Amino acid sequence: MTVLLLAGTGEARGLAPRLAGRAIASLAGATRTPADLELPTRVGGFGGVAGLCAYIAETGITRIIDATHPFAAQMTDHAAQAARATGTPLLILRRPGWRAGPGDRWHWVDDLGRVGALTGPDATLFLATGRQSLAAFSALPNQLWCRVIDPPGGPFPGRGGWIEGRPPFSVADEIALFQRLGIDWLVTKNSGGEAPVSKLVAARDLGLPVVIQRRPPLPPGITRVRTPEEALAWLDPA
Ligand code: NAP
Repeated sequence: MTVLLLAGTGEARGLAPRLAGRAIASLAGATRTPADLELPTRVGGFGGVAGLCAYIAETGITRIIDATHPFAAQMTDHAAQAARATGTPLLILRRPGWRAGPGDRWHWVDDLGRVGALTGPDATLFLATGRQSLAAFSALPNQLWCRVIDPPGGPFPGRGGWIEGRPPFSVADEIALFQRLGIDWLVTKNSGGEAPVSKLVAARDLGLPVVIQRRPPLPPGITRVRTPEEALAWLDPA
C-alpha cells in the first residue's frame, strides 16, 4: 500500500510519522520552512486534476488521505475528482470546527467581503485569515494587521502591516498583542481544532467582537474523520 498524504496541517503532522514506510507526503509549498514530516515529501501543485491523476498512476498510489486545511477547498475538490477518476480510495481527515461559548461575540459570514459592513470603517482589524485572503480587505479604509508565518516581500497593501508569527501563541501574548495594536475586531476562519484557541480566548477575555468565516462544504460522498487515530483505523481496519 502506498498512501498519498496531502498535508499542510497539524493533523497531517500528527499522522505522518505513523505512516512511515508506506506513505508520501505532499505540501503545496506555501510555507518557506515547513516542519519535517518524517516521510518522503514532495512539494508543489500537481497541475490540477489531470496532473494528480497522472501522479497517482506513476507513483502507484493506492490510498489518499486529504489532511489539508479546511479552507484548502480546491485541493480537496481536486483530490475527490482524481480519486473518483482513478478508483483510489480517499479519506478526508479534517479537525472539527469551533463553536462559540459563553462570552464569545462571534459574527458568522460565508464571505469575507462582508467584514467591512459588520465592523464599520473606523475599526482596527486583526486578520488571522492568512495572506491569501488579504485581497478581500484591500478596498477597506480600516487599519489592518495581518498575521503571517513568512512576511511577504514588498509593502503592505493598505493601512497597517504584517505581524510575523508561527503558532502556537499563548493567550497572554495574544492579549498583549491585541492591546498593543489597539485591535477592535478579530477576523478569522473557522479553522477549528480540539484545543482552545488563544486568539479566540483572548478576544473573549477582552470583550472583542469576532468575524468568523464558515468553512466551505466538503465534496459529497467521501468518508471524513476528525483525528489521526481514525485515519489509521481507516487504513488498517481491525
Ligand atoms: P487550495 O486553494 O485548495 O489549493 C490551491 C492549489 O495548491 C491546489 O489546486 C494544488 O495545486 C496546490 N495544493 C494545495 N495543497 C496542496 C498539497 N498539500 N500538495 C500539493 N499541492 C497542493 O489550497 P490553499 O488554501 O492555497 O492552501 C495551500 C496549502 O496550505 C494546503 O495544503 C493547506 O493544507 C495549507 N494551509 C492552508 C490554509 C488556508 O487557510 N487556506 C491554512 C493553513 C494551511 P494543483 O492544482 O496544481 O495540484
